[in-house]
Amino acid sequence: MTSVAELIAVTTISGTTAASTCDTDLAEPTWAFDALPTYGPGASVADPIPVDTTNATMRPGQLPLAYQKMSDEELHARIVAARETLGDRIVILGHYYQRDEIVAYADFVGDSFQLANAALTRPDAEAIVFCGVHFMAETADILARDEQHVILPNLAAGCSMADMADSESVEAAWEELAEVYGFDASQEIDEGWFERNPGVKLPVIPVTYMNSSAALKAFCGRHGGIVCTSSNARTVLEWAFERGERVLFFPDQHLGRNTAKAMGVPLEQMPMWNPRKDLGGNTSAELDDARVILWHGFCSVHKRFTTAQIDAAREQHPGVQVVVHPECPMPVVDAADAAGSTELIRRFVAEAAPGSTIAIGTEVNMVNRLAAQHPDKTIFCLDPVICPCSTMYRIHPGYLAWTLEGLVEGEWRNEIQVDPDVATHARVALTRMLAAAPQPLGGTPAPAAPAAPAAASAPAAPAPALTVSTGGAR
Ligand code: SF4
Repeated sequence: MTSVAELIAVTTISGTTAASTCDTDLAEPTWAFDALPTYGPGASVADPIPVDTTNATMRPGQLPLAYQKMSDEELHARIVAARETLGDRIVILGHYYQRDEIVAYADFVGDSFQLANAALTRPDAEAIVFCGVHFMAETADILARDEQHVILPNLAAGCSMADMADSESVEAAWEELAEVYGFDASQEIDEGWFERNPGVKLPVIPVTYMNSSAALKAFCGRHGGIVCTSSNARTVLEWAFERGERVLFFPDQHLGRNTAKAMGVPLEQMPMWNPRKDLGGNTSAELDDARVILWHGFCSVHKRFTTAQIDAAREQHPGVQVVVHPECPMPVVDAADAAGSTELIRRFVAEAAPGSTIAIGTEVNMVNRLAAQHPDKTIFCLDPVICPCSTMYRIHPGYLAWTLEGLVEGEWRNEIQVDPDVATHARVALTRMLAAAPQPLGGTPAPAAPAAPAAASAPAAPAPALTVSTGGAR
C-alpha cells in the first residue's frame, strides 16, 4: 500500500486534484516549521529550544542541514545503527497516527496513554523516544521514573486541539464560574479531599481530556478534577457527577457532548464555553442549568468527517459498517454504526468477519495501516481527502536519526521535562482517573500483534512493531 507520505508527495508535486490533501502545509518539508516564532502548535514555551553550537548560521530549533539533505536510505541506516548501539538503553514509542516510516522503528505502537503505560514496562530504559505529539511526551514524563529522559524528536509536533485550551483561558473561565456558582476559585481540592468529605458535592468538577497540556492536568489535580481518555470518558463523567453538580469539560467539545448525550444529558444542559466571550457566551441562567460545560475546542482531523460522507459510503458500498472516533461531530457519531477510541476501532476491524467492508472515521495513517493488516476486508477512510494529523506528521525520520545519534553521543536533544510541581498535581488527576476507570499500568506487548508495514521508502524495518494490549485511550 502506498504510504500517506508518498500520496502527499504525489498530489503536491503533480498538482493532482483527484486526491488532494487537507492542508497545504503538508507539502512543505517537515523542518520548514522549525524555529518559527510560535515554534509550531503544541510546542510549549517552557521547552528549551535546541541550538546547534557547531553551526553559527543555524536558527535555533532547526534540524541540522546535514540531516535535511540525507536520503531516506541514509537516514534509515543511521537510525538502525544508532538503535543497535543504544540497545535496551532506549524505548521508541510510535502513536497509531504516526507515519509508517516512523512506526517501522517503534518498539510499541498504540494510543497516547497505552504508550505512556508501555514505557513503564521498560523502567531500565534511560530514554523514552516518543514519536507522537507534545502532550503525549509530557504524560510519559509525568509517569516515568525521575531518572528517565523523554525525547520528542521534533518539538514542533504539537496538537492543535490541546492548544485550544491554554492555562490562562481555563484559569480565567474558572474564576468566572466561581462567581456564578459562588465558590472560592483558589480553593485546592487535594488528593484525599473527597474521602475526607464524603457526600459533599462541588459546584463544578473540571475534566480534561488526555489531549491537553500537563499544566491543565495539574489544574484538574488541584481543583478536584480528573483526566479522561476517549475510552473511559463515560466512567470518568459518572465519577465526576458523583462528586459535583456539573462538569467543565475541555478541550474537546465533541468527546464531551457525545459522551454526555449517550448518558442521557439533554443538549440544552450542555452550553458551550467560548473563552473569548464573557461567561463563555452564556447567560447566568444557562450556566445555572448546565450539567456539562463544553470548551470550544475540537480536533482538526476528526471534525472533517461528515454525515454526507457516511451517506456516500452507504450508497457506494451496500452493507458497509461505519465506525468513527468520538472526537467526530455528534451527527457523525449518531449516523455511524459504532463509535469509540482508536483501540475500539482497532478491535472493531479485527473482529469483523472476513469479507466485511468497513468505513472508518479517524486519522488516515491508522486507517491505511488497518487496511494493510486486514487484506481479507475492504477498509477505507470516510474522508476522501488525504488528511493526516499534520502536527504528528512533523516527526520525520530526519529528526529520529538526529535525536537518536544525540543519545549515542550522550546528548539529550529535544528533551521534554515537566516542571516537578506541575507533574505532582497532574499525577493526582491521572491517579483519580486510574481509580475511577482502572487501566493496567505497565502495559505489555500483545502476544500476536501484527508486524508494522515496512517503511515505504526504506529497506526492511529493524524490528516488528508491537501493539500494546492495555486499555484504549487517545
Ligand atoms: S489527531 Fe487531532 S487530537 Fe490527535 S494529535 Fe492530531 S490534532 Fe491532536
